[in-house]
Amino acid sequence: MTNSIEATIALAGNPNSGKTTLFNALTGARQHVGNYPGITVEKKIGAYIKDNRRFTIVDLPGTYSLTAYSLEEIVARDFLIDEQPAVVVDIVDAANLERNLYLSIQLLEMGLPVCIALNMVDAAKRRGIKIDEKRLAEMLNVPVIPTIARSGRGKDELMQAVEEIANSHKTRSPVLISYGQDIDQALFEMERLIGDEQFLTDTYLPRWIALKYMEADENMRERGKRLNSRLSAVLDGIAGRVSDHLEETLATDPEAMIADYRYGYIRSIVNQGVITRANDLSRLHVSDRIDGIVTHRYLGPLVMVAVLFGLYQFTFTYSEIPVTWLETGIAKLSQLASDHVPEGVLKSLLISAVIDGVGGVLGFVPLIVFMFFGIAVLEDSGYLARVAFMLDRIFRIFGLHGSAVMPFIISGGIAGGCAVPGVMAARTLKSPRERLTTILTVPFMNCGAKLPVFALLVATFFVQYEAVMMFGITLGAWAGALLVAKLLRSTVIRGESTPFVMELPPYRLPTLKGVTTHTWERTWQYIKKAGTIILAISIIMWALMSYPGLPDSVKQGFQAERQALLAAVPEMVIREMQSDGDNGILSNQAHDFKEQMVLLDAREAEAGLKNSIAGRVGQGVESVSRLAGFDWRTNIALLGGIAAKEVVISTLGTAYSLGEVDPEDSKPLADTLAQAPGWRPLTALCLILFIMFYAPCFVSVVCISRESGSWKWGAFSIVFNTFLAFTLAVVVFQLGSLMGF
Ligand code: GDP
Ligand code: MG
Repeated sequence: MTNSIEATIALAGNPNSGKTTLFNALTGARQHVGNYPGITVEKKIGAYIKDNRRFTIVDLPGTYSLTAYSLEEIVARDFLIDEQPAVVVDIVDAANLERNLYLSIQLLEMGLPVCIALNMVDAAKRRGIKIDEKRLAEMLNVPVIPTIARSGRGKDELMQAVEEIANSHKTRSPVLISYGQDIDQALFEMERLIGDEQFLTDTYLPRWIALKYMEADENMRERGKRLNSRLSAVLDGIAGRVSDHLEETLATDPEAMIADYRYGYIRSIVNQGVITRANDLSRLHVSDRIDGIVTHRYLGPLVMVAVLFGLYQFTFTYSEIPVTWLETGIAKLSQLASDHVPEGVLKSLLISAVIDGVGGVLGFVPLIVFMFFGIAVLEDSGYLARVAFMLDRIFRIFGLHGSAVMPFIISGGIAGGCAVPGVMAARTLKSPRERLTTILTVPFMNCGAKLPVFALLVATFFVQYEAVMMFGITLGAWAGALLVAKLLRSTVIRGESTPFVMELPPYRLPTLKGVTTHTWERTWQYIKKAGTIILAISIIMWALMSYPGLPDSVKQGFQAERQALLAAVPEMVIREMQSDGDNGILSNQAHDFKEQMVLLDAREAEAGLKNSIAGRVGQGVESVSRLAGFDWRTNIALLGGIAAKEVVISTLGTAYSLGEVDPEDSKPLADTLAQAPGWRPLTALCLILFIMFYAPCFVSVVCISRESGSWKWGAFSIVFNTFLAFTLAVVVFQLGSLMGF
């Protein structure tokens, strides 16, 4: 028994896909031809009646897309939105599947209840094209019914599927396509603004409105302007910014880029066993031929390893000299300040927080430049998308969706990304479970802030093996992230996996201008962050490390010791010290005296640091952190790292410069660490491990909470990640120590 039903069905499709033929087959003589109000576009309406079911069927004008370039497109689009048909039957010409799916994808992006009629399967077969409709249905998550409209074959099955959709009243979640980082981020930003102000959202999906603005769709912008000209202008501004950026870097515009990615999306669906051609070798494009090697099952990973290793080798080899220059320069600056700025709080602040702290972070700018340059080349050429494509086979094993690869890469999967846009990029994932898993695991990637910390430790303790270590760190981060994903997916976030579709944009030759612009933008962000956020946190850390300072009684004790030392030295030596050895050479006696004074200063500074707020916290947890080989100074740095990972370097710099053993001889942090007691390669390795996995930085936590919709997940990531990181570091440190490292 079926309920009686009345609903409107729209037939959409490319011109010549057989819409009218199907329309006739379904409605027979029961049709009426008119025009859409006020325009000459023909409107055909008919009725399909079977048993107690009656469907009103509307044959929409044939279109290739849903932009606003032709009257037909606008009519079709308005009908779909204004009349809200219960089902949209999308007629797809099987012999021209890829071109026809371009419209289907847009219907799905609008979140419409689509049923695909895979028409002309007879013609396709004659041309040696076989389509696996089940696979296609699974990929697109809509029913796909093969039909031959001319003979009426398949129309009953089609109407059966239509009826099921009409009866189910389920709201469909729209297909989300990633359009590359630039556009995606702008879309997210626009979506938020649109959502906040409920701008046109009673009729359209926020993302769809954003997309239309991005495509500079006249029709939509007109409507928007009438409704809320201020917000409309803001959206135009965002789209314009992306447009200028794409023009400058890739010599393309958002509309073309969006079309490219849509076709890429389709190509990847079709290439996954949906379509088999009898004789297709001769039809391969150049891109496909390159992909034959680069994404080959066995050759592909080899190429990938070689490319990544090459990238690290290149980065470390060429950045070493400029990094040394900068570090030496910053050490000189620190020395200069130490000689010429009068003693006091200001001096301590200037040297410890500003020069050593921020300078330590800025010292890595050359490394960042080289790394970003290499990544920009990989990205602009389209190779990164291939890496994502290959990785997604692996991803499925670990319960992650293939579309999660891009968020991982954005977060620093190769090196030097940021988890914040990575977490945002996870929005392209449909399944809430897979999305949450992605959000929680992307912070394990080596973001641009961890990079200099690793670089510093690797360059100091593993001089011979920089590229190998960097490669190992990258692999380790991926392995950790994937294993955690698997763990989460089999415990707290259990659930079905959804099929994936991966977009492969065509290869492009990167332009010098594009690559330099990308490199510069990211480098500038790094510098800007160092000069603002990192500076602020450095100052806070410095304050935490300087106050409350030593009690007066202790200070007086040190003063007394100093007096005693001074009293014991002959007048002559003092005079020699004051003239500071005109020839720069001190007598033995003077040298000894000076050294004692310096040691005394260092002891006082260290006592001060120990007594500071940060110092007390650092010591408080030292008994536990010792298990992983971290002393209290390192603890301070790691604490600072929760605010932002770069702060680990700047704080280590401050911690070790405050109580420096030999402050007279200001030297780069790397050398200080190499000589610091208790530091050896194993310590550095455990610190690297810990930093790889422990709590995400503050901004990431906020972002995780917002995107997952709950502060619980933000808190979870702090607690879980730190626990994981610490366990790893302890295990490695204990085993390593046992083995004598
Ligand atoms: P419309 O532009 O989408 O309305 O397409 P039409 O219905 O006018 O069909 C275009 C042409 O394709 C006509 O010559 C139809 O006879 C033919 N046609 C429609 N469906 C099929 C089919 O399933 N198989 C074959 N071989 N031809 C078809
Ligand atoms: Mg027609």
